Amino acid sequence: MDFDALRKNMVEVQLVGRGDITDKKVIEAFLKVPRHRFVSEKLQKDAYGDYPLPIGSGQTISQPYMVALMTQCLQLNGSEKVLEIGTGSGYQTAILAELANQVYTIERHPDLSKSAENITKELGYKNIYFKVGDGTLGWHEKSPFDAIIVTAGAPDAPKYLLEQLADGGRLVIPVGSEFTQRLMVYEKIKDEIKTNQVCACTFVKLIGKAAWKE
Ligand code: SAH
Repeated sequence: MDFDALRKNMVEVQLVGRGDITDKKVIEAFLKVPRHRFVSEKLQKDAYGDYPLPIGSGQTISQPYMVALMTQCLQLNGSEKVLEIGTGSGYQTAILAELANQVYTIERHPDLSKSAENITKELGYKNIYFKVGDGTLGWHEKSPFDAIIVTAGAPDAPKYLLEQLADGGRLVIPVGSEFTQRLMVYEKIKDEIKTNQVCACTFVKLIGKAAWKE
């Protein structure tokens, strides 16, 4: 299969074609990162489709457009320290590693974390730090973060994550019920939090102390 052609088509039709993914660096990152390497061999042919895919442990790799939209909301310029909650396949992690200086990523399923670590190492990323645990608590020792992205749906923005945001930092997170959420951006400006709604979305549950119970 010509994965390069499929990837180029994905970017042209699903990202640029929808009209609202305009950040050139984000577009370049999506052209570069081989999404098919983050799914099982039998799903590789579907890796560039306009939908989420299963990645094991009952979890999913998000639709490419949603990954792009969330990434663009972070407004990265390359110098940032980023925290990601929900490593999953590691695809979003790799996109972030293209666009930021350092990426800290937490996943509650050890097997997903390990395979994401293996594949990103194979692809040559050296600016990603992996942790297995409850991401709703953040990663206190490494805080503050210029940007935090949560790739699972929460009942509310976890307070620990808002606390670990640097001044001027942004938290992007789906917030709502277990079944449907709104993609939210929280921006910290001198200890005040400015809130913005982006769109409706559907994510798997964020499970942890400051989110849903298992
Ligand atoms: N960004 C991932 C999306 C994975 S789905 C990708 O592109 O593949 C969301 C992930 O969040 C799942 O892997 C799930 O196990 C994880 N998750 C849920 N609650 C979590 C928590 N409290 N801490 C860390 N990871 C969590």
